[in-house]
Amino acid sequence: MGPEEFRRHGREVIDWIADYYQRLESLPVLSRVAPGEVRAGLPAEPPAAGQGFDGVLADLDSVILPGLTHWQHPSFFAFFPASATGPSILGDLLASGLGVQGMLWATSPAATELETLMLDWLAQLLDLPAGFRSESAGGGVIQHSASDAALVALVAALHRASAGATETDGVGAGRFSVYTSAQTHSSVEKACRIAGIGTAALRKLDVDPATLAARPAHLAKLLAADVAAGRTPALVVASVGATGTGALDPVAELAELAHRYGAWLHVDAAWAGVAAVCEELRWINAGVERADSYCTNPHKWLLTNFDCTAFWVADRAALIGALSILPEYLRNAATESGEVFDYRDWQVPLGRRFRALKLWTVLRWYGADGLQAHIRGHVALAQEFASWVAADNRFELLAPHPLALVTFASREGDQATRELLQAVNASGEAYLTHTLVDGRFAIRMAIGSVLTERRHVEAAWKAITSRAAQPGQGGNSVRVG
Ligand code: PLP
Repeated sequence: MGPEEFRRHGREVIDWIADYYQRLESLPVLSRVAPGEVRAGLPAEPPAAGQGFDGVLADLDSVILPGLTHWQHPSFFAFFPASATGPSILGDLLASGLGVQGMLWATSPAATELETLMLDWLAQLLDLPAGFRSESAGGGVIQHSASDAALVALVAALHRASAGATETDGVGAGRFSVYTSAQTHSSVEKACRIAGIGTAALRKLDVDPATLAARPAHLAKLLAADVAAGRTPALVVASVGATGTGALDPVAELAELAHRYGAWLHVDAAWAGVAAVCEELRWINAGVERADSYCTNPHKWLLTNFDCTAFWVADRAALIGALSILPEYLRNAATESGEVFDYRDWQVPLGRRFRALKLWTVLRWYGADGLQAHIRGHVALAQEFASWVAADNRFELLAPHPLALVTFASREGDQATRELLQAVNASGEAYLTHTLVDGRFAIRMAIGSVLTERRHVEAAWKAITSRAAQPGQGGNSVRVG
């Protein structure tokens, strides 16, 4: 594709995306295709000869679009949001256009230096501890996902707990232990599997039934028992905004215990952490100054396209010690000078995209004011939604909801709640997902789509209330899980 063809098709693509956003609201949120339907609409064999670009957008409309759940739809209230915005799309497009690979500082100095600066900017915007900034012993890096952040935090923790022995000797069965709440995202369990310590190393902490926060007293008990049994506590993961209900763990208390036993404290604030752009929500950072590592995802709630997980460590030497390998072909003078960051040593893969560009375009476009307005708007909508739930005697709020996630259930029992969720999602009017709270089936209303306005939240509430069981109609109150 030569420059002129690229220009022509590029304009068509940008127009297509702009039109998509303009008509998004008229599309059903949740895809309705049956398994295999998308594939059946496409040729089974790859083209023998090049087909050019003409026809791609038509196929996108006719075959691909019906097979999509529209994550940017204003009535998408499922999971947590995955932001996409104009400045971010354009930043990502520039990164694609440049096509650089910033595995080493030397392979594109600007890619590394912009990333380091963006993570420093973001740490300032979120008022994170000075120890996470690049001018300290710590620093920040963009990871693909919060799951990668948990994994690299674990290998850094194992490196530190073993004084560097895990890199050569491996981890051995039963030597190390990891602790996290039953509410924490499954990525921590996956990290244990990938790192080779296995899920047997993972201890799940009890939670307070009212706040769903991890109980430090239980952590203290588990740590003491593991040490008595000859195991080394390596990592404690605290959640700030856990996936199911948004639960917030007492970070300072968990950190105090972790450090007493020489363990690493990682904070997973994948969804909620970015709320700290607002001064009045900075209470979510309580205790973070004691964390060894911290992650939050601008790609969830901060207007930045997937993938962009911001991950900071207070001691970058532990992370680099765990992950650095320098084969001959990567040796270069800048690395050997010790004056530069080589981000390949901060992550699992070697290669890396220029993701800092989209963070740069987002932070420049919105500024602190725009980011705050975005978060505040969603928090206000969620509080209003929760007040409607609380005032309706058919429903019950099941968890605290200080941010933009509201978890609730029908008073008629699990079956009624499940049927209600299915009916709302089948309508195409809104998309919500579920969780279990103390064994009860609960609906999660996660407000975070960039395009969501009050009228969309009102419409979702109407979609819910018009299908809700009336008192005494639920019938089946059997608990699931
Ligand atoms: N941690 C939390 C609290 C999450 O909510 C999620 C996903 O929703 C994850 C981790 C995993 O996120 P990622 O897709 O970035 O790995």
